[in-house]
Amino acid sequence: MGLQPKITSSKIDHELKKWAQKGVEGHFNEDPWVSHHHKGKTAMSHLVGAKTHEVVAMNNLTTNLHLLLASFYQPKRTRKKVIIEKGAFPSDYFAVTSHMKQKGISPEDHLIEISPDENGYFSTEKICHSILTTGDALALVMLPGIQYYSGQFLDLKSITHAAHKVGAYAGFDLAHAVGNIPMTLHEDQVDFAAWCSYKYLNSGPGNVSGVFIHEKHGNNPDFPRLAGWWGQNETIRFKMENDFDPIPGIDGWMLSNANIISSVAHLASLDIFEKANIHELRKKSILLTRYLEYLLVNNEAIKPHINILTPKNESERGCQLSLYFYDQGRLAFDHLTKNGVVLDWREPNVIRVAPVPLYNSFEEVEKFVILLGQVFD
Ligand SMILES: *Cc1c(COP(=O)(O)O)cnc(C)c1O
Repeated sequence: MGLQPKITSSKIDHELKKWAQKGVEGHFNEDPWVSHHHKGKTAMSHLVGAKTHEVVAMNNLTTNLHLLLASFYQPKRTRKKVIIEKGAFPSDYFAVTSHMKQKGISPEDHLIEISPDENGYFSTEKICHSILTTGDALALVMLPGIQYYSGQFLDLKSITHAAHKVGAYAGFDLAHAVGNIPMTLHEDQVDFAAWCSYKYLNSGPGNVSGVFIHEKHGNNPDFPRLAGWWGQNETIRFKMENDFDPIPGIDGWMLSNANIISSVAHLASLDIFEKANIHELRKKSILLTRYLEYLLVNNEAIKPHINILTPKNESERGCQLSLYFYDQGRLAFDHLTKNGVVLDWREPNVIRVAPVPLYNSFEEVEKFVILLGQVFD
């Protein structure tokens, strides 16, 4: 989980005061709540490489995956299959399989889970091969941008192109990619994506999710969707009539008015990313993670005990390294945690370490490796 920006609490406080002083008028006064969802669009579009009308912040990640599946999983008589990765984040697996079941399609027969190699690596060739051989039976590919367990960044463009070749859609869960690595969703022709804002984006626990739908679908008012009043044409929304005239672009998928109190924390974080610039952050990130990898693989005490699961190729990873421990993994985790390093433990024996360019330093990377070395002295 990303750290709290210094400005966050005063931004929240400002909205609390506005609510106390203006009540419902806060919706329409200066800096109105009704148009709140427009505010983060520029920054979000830069993070994922999209047009502003292709991105919006709303709901939470799993909810958005459901909304996207409702739109993009439209199985036909012969086109029902879905490709995900084996070992997918459970929420993504549940979302996909529940849509299949709800439509009377058995996941046993129609869900294809691509297996990684023994190091957890998914080869692009293997993914594309599976897409192409599934052919017209394939409805949808839904994969991570960065796989949460191994830290591998998938080749979004090649996967999307392969899916389109067989007439299927390609969508991505960018929970571990957004704010970590720059992307080019629009240019890559990705159909849809969603992410949360509390991992590399520092928006606070459980805060709002970001969504992308390519304009080629988003601008089609007839594209299937689960609709709500906030997606209604803004000039007639408050007439409260029942003819649905969706706002062009992703905004036509909005259901509800924004949760202002928590969304301003999202904006606080987006402002920082906008100032820092994701491409500049990426330059530092490559060096920071390269330094971490260098220190680990050249440390005689540590070397025999770990295997780095994350790809060595820097274009196939963000800042995270996943360290598989042959032994004493739990001991190492406890020692590091006790000494103030915030890490993540994954069964059976993996520590995920993510030096983030926004606030981690090269010195901290060094300290981490020294502390880890103490475990094996
Ligand atoms: C973090 C994460 C989630 C969490 O979903 P929420 O709806 O925000 O609780 C889902 N999928 C992936 C891949 C994640 O990394």
